[in-house]
Amino acid sequence: MLAVLERHADINQYAFSVPKYAPDGSIRAEGKTQVVVFGAHRPGYYGSWKMHGARLQEVTSYTYLGLDLHWTLGMHKYSPRCSDGSTRNPFTDHVVKKLKKNEKVVHTLRRMQLGSGGFKTSTATQILRTMYDSSVNFGAEIWNAAAKSSWNICETAHAEAECRILGVSRLTNRSAVRAELGLLSQKGVRDAQSLGFLLRILKQDEARLSAQVYRFLLTDSIGAGFTANWARSCAPKILAAYGLETPPAVTPPKAWRKIVLAAIYKKEEEALCLECASSSKLSDYGALHSKIAAPAYLEARVPWHLESGRRLKTQLRLGTNMLQVEQGRHMGMPRHLRICPTCHDGVEDSFHFTMRCASLEPIRQQFFQMIDEIVKLEDCFGWAQMDLRARWEFILGDGVISGYYGWEQWCRIEHKVYSFLIKVKWHRLNQLMR
Ligand SMILES: [Zn+2]
Repeated sequence: MLAVLERHADINQYAFSVPKYAPDGSIRAEGKTQVVVFGAHRPGYYGSWKMHGARLQEVTSYTYLGLDLHWTLGMHKYSPRCSDGSTRNPFTDHVVKKLKKNEKVVHTLRRMQLGSGGFKTSTATQILRTMYDSSVNFGAEIWNAAAKSSWNICETAHAEAECRILGVSRLTNRSAVRAELGLLSQKGVRDAQSLGFLLRILKQDEARLSAQVYRFLLTDSIGAGFTANWARSCAPKILAAYGLETPPAVTPPKAWRKIVLAAIYKKEEEALCLECASSSKLSDYGALHSKIAAPAYLEARVPWHLESGRRLKTQLRLGTNMLQVEQGRHMGMPRHLRICPTCHDGVEDSFHFTMRCASLEPIRQQFFQMIDEIVKLEDCFGWAQMDLRARWEFILGDGVISGYYGWEQWCRIEHKVYSFLIKVKWHRLNQLMR
């Protein structure tokens, strides 16, 4: 909580009004609670500070949501004369700090061996969300995030962490990676926070400082563009982008958050559908991915020795992989010339690789026999009747949610799929080395 007070004595009044905002007494003046005195007098001029009987430390500057509040009210920290001679501005400084935080998170993820079976992928996603998202995007509305393109650096760093979790190349299509993890884009997350902030201000009583600033901005004649005025131009543009109206102040925050998230998910899903339809790289993903949420196969725990098979399945789904259809793309080859290097019969795409390639036939037959064995007594998914196309869709598909009909059988099949993919990958590689 940040309080801006006018007189020395006001701190006592503030101390009394705090319980109004936390009736359970959860706010205490300790640790991080500090005082900055803005103005002409040097720090220490007014003597000591106390709140609820606890002594508060007076400091020359306090960083709130990444913004440095210096006692001189100047951009002291960011002047060209700062120690390293740079001319940073506060926002760049904030972004640099967040990037460092991201490096730490990625390092932790690596130490936890999230990419190699240490945790389920969905657990890794939760860890990323908790450790990174909350910190990086916290205060986005204060920075008027929608208007700042430098935030894109954070976007890239986050996308790399997402790729690491899935065990796919950093060149993989970002929208597809996010869809695979069931995540919103970082911009979506920030927009959701901005819209949540809007309702919070609308709910505040008129005496609160942020409510006063908001009302002032609504009538302020300065600043007409996207960047200049949060209340009058930026917030309405975010609302319009998702087809939403300004919420009435009586809207319950939880209900508003639900509405906002639904609108943002819908918009991002539509964008992904358009991309799948227009990009040949994502055409497989369009056919294999059916829901907005993260696919069920990433929810299931995978034994460590099969994790590389799971990663390969993800790479095949997302279209960035070692197959000729993708490698030829980088060389600028027309699609019909990206021929399978082992059997030389047709374009080597994920369907050819898993279902058609003649050089992998013996391993495939073995794999089919194992599945036939699993479904012999009860064929929950109609495997026996599936043609090759349907089998391709089934083995590279989203999977079955835990507890649903046939889940146990699907798990057994899925493990065979992973071990099949590992085998064909190595067999293909051995043939190419010959
Ligand atoms: Zn082939």
